[in-house]
Amino acid sequence: MTVHIHPAVDDGVKQGSGHFTGGTLVCKCKDRPVKVSVRGDVLHNHACGCTKCWKPDGATFSVVAVVPRDNVAVIENGDKLHIVDTSATIQRHACKVCGTHMFGRIENKDHAFYGLDFIHPELFQESGSAAPGFAAFVSSVIEAGVDPSQMDGIRARLKELGLEPYDCLSPALMDALAAQVSKSRAKAA
Ligand SMILES: [Zn+2]
Ligand SMILES: [Zn+2]
Repeated sequence: MTVHIHPAVDDGVKQGSGHFTGGTLVCKCKDRPVKVSVRGDVLHNHACGCTKCWKPDGATFSVVAVVPRDNVAVIENGDKLHIVDTSATIQRHACKVCGTHMFGRIENKDHAFYGLDFIHPELFQESGSAAPGFAAFVSSVIEAGVDPSQMDGIRARLKELGLEPYDCLSPALMDALAAQVSKSRAKAA
């Protein structure tokens, strides 16, 4: 049985050029696509199994990375953007017409990831951005309808692709979240 993760990695993870200087994210609309410019390369690129991240049709995982929010700018057809869920921690700005998430932004200044926007590198017109390096929230694909019996195959495939599977975020990112909790507790005490 073939295990599909995401079209961008199913044929093997394509490594980044190492000198990607930025590019333009384009939504799926043929007419007046939304364009978002991103300066510099992406960080912490990973496959994500959560049910909130945008993924293309047929993909089991999304591929999502972060970039400093100051490096992100809507350059064309921003009137088509709306926030998917204004109450969510990550406010996902999506195209109202095709549904593609263009960037996710955290407005809570106390959040460990404040200052970073979440983007989907597959939307870059340009190639060469940093490749995904791990898989997050792997067990969550079950919430999206994957049969639990497929999980061994999915985890094995992720490992084969070099995307270490985690059921939350990677240890480095979990540490960052925990450090922020500890810092805000100290502040409150
Ligand atoms: Zn669109
Ligand atoms: Zn996600």
